Amino acid sequence: MRNVAIIGGGLSGLAAADILHRSGVSVTVYEARIRFGGRVLSRPALGGTARYDLGPSWIWPQNARMLALATRFGGRVFDQPTEGNLVFQDQAGAVRRDLTMATMGGALRLNGGVQILTDGLRATLPTKAMKVNTQIKGIQDMGDHIEIAGQHGAEMFYERFASVIVAVPPRVVARDIALGWNGGQHVAAHLAAIPTWMAGHAKLIAVYDTPFWRAMGLNGDAISHSGPLSEIHDASPMDASQGALFGFLTVGAAWHPDQVTQAALSQLSELFGEEAAAPRDVLYQNWSVEGETAAQEDLAPLDGHPDYGMPDALYGYVPPRVHFAGAELAPSDGGFLEGALASAEQAAQAALGALGQTYGWS
Ligand SMILES: Cc1cc2nc3c(=O)[nH]c(=O)nc-3n(C[C@H](O)[C@H](O)[C@H](O)COP(=O)(O)OP(=O)(O)OC[C@H]3O[C@@H](n4cnc5c(N)ncnc54)[C@H](O)[C@@H]3O)c2cc1C
Repeated sequence: MRNVAIIGGGLSGLAAADILHRSGVSVTVYEARIRFGGRVLSRPALGGTARYDLGPSWIWPQNARMLALATRFGGRVFDQPTEGNLVFQDQAGAVRRDLTMATMGGALRLNGGVQILTDGLRATLPTKAMKVNTQIKGIQDMGDHIEIAGQHGAEMFYERFASVIVAVPPRVVARDIALGWNGGQHVAAHLAAIPTWMAGHAKLIAVYDTPFWRAMGLNGDAISHSGPLSEIHDASPMDASQGALFGFLTVGAAWHPDQVTQAALSQLSELFGEEAAAPRDVLYQNWSVEGETAAQEDLAPLDGHPDYGMPDALYGYVPPRVHFAGAELAPSDGGFLEGALASAEQAAQAALGALGQTYGWS
């Protein structure tokens, strides 16, 4: 048996599947949603072909794995715009536009959206290996193999594998997947304590015919203490064929998307002028209400960037045929796209090791 189950078809699960597939190992990727990509999601807006990132949008020059993947799939990177002033809104709603600063200087974006990478990885894997709308509910260590229990539609199924890579956010694993081995409960308890990066956030993107704020001497950055958008940035495509501003907000399930849109457009017009009140399209994604990403505890705001990585307390409690991946368990760049790739490499190497094979493709 040289087959490996990958649970979770986000960037990390797809990257691990890609490494194993290129090493000649048979993989099956199980994804709970009806699409691959996980937190990576890029969508077009009305009247254009550019895709906008509703999940992650930035990488950094030191993200060697992400840059290599972009090169592999023909993705062009460009600088996050920084030229011009930042808009600041205080608690009382007063606005100033005279601050010469940019908050995301040095960050890079991918032309066409980050999803070109997850689409690219998915396309290299055999179609029959890719199972969407399939939620895994249990992993049983049988000693000489692994059995997984899953649900596709109304149907439960059970499959055997040589090993499994779990690339699902740790809190979601703890809540939804029964870990059937001696010590499984200890593992679940520790995974439940790991926050999912950005899971409590929603992202709203207002798309315009042009990036009109640039002619006003503004760089598209805004910081607001009145909200609902707390932090705003330029999300326009590389060729500026449309203009776009995106903002983060944390509203949980309390606000209906129409209510969010109305309040956000009113705020954008206060910050960037009347033109901002009439976008061509508005895209909205609230990650906090998606059970495949967020757990109840993720609604509480995080106090800074957690110190991610595989908890030391788990060593000795995970069977040799089970491997964990995902941005939150990454050996470096925890929480970020680059970390999702680093952990995929680590888990794929461990799975290959368990199969008696070395990590040897080029
Ligand atoms: C709004 C937002 C902005 C961000 N901005 C940035 C940024 O600018 N730069 C950056 O580097 N990072 C950013 N991040 C973080 C980045 O998105 C993550 O690091 C990365 O996408 C995580 O990939 P992953 O594969 O580890 O997890 P995920 O993408 O969460 O993938 C996990 C997959 O598991 C699936 N799944 C869940 N439960 C099950 C189950 N029971 N059975 C089967 N499948 C299941 C999910 O549907 C999902 O597809 C941002 C995240 C968000 C939400």
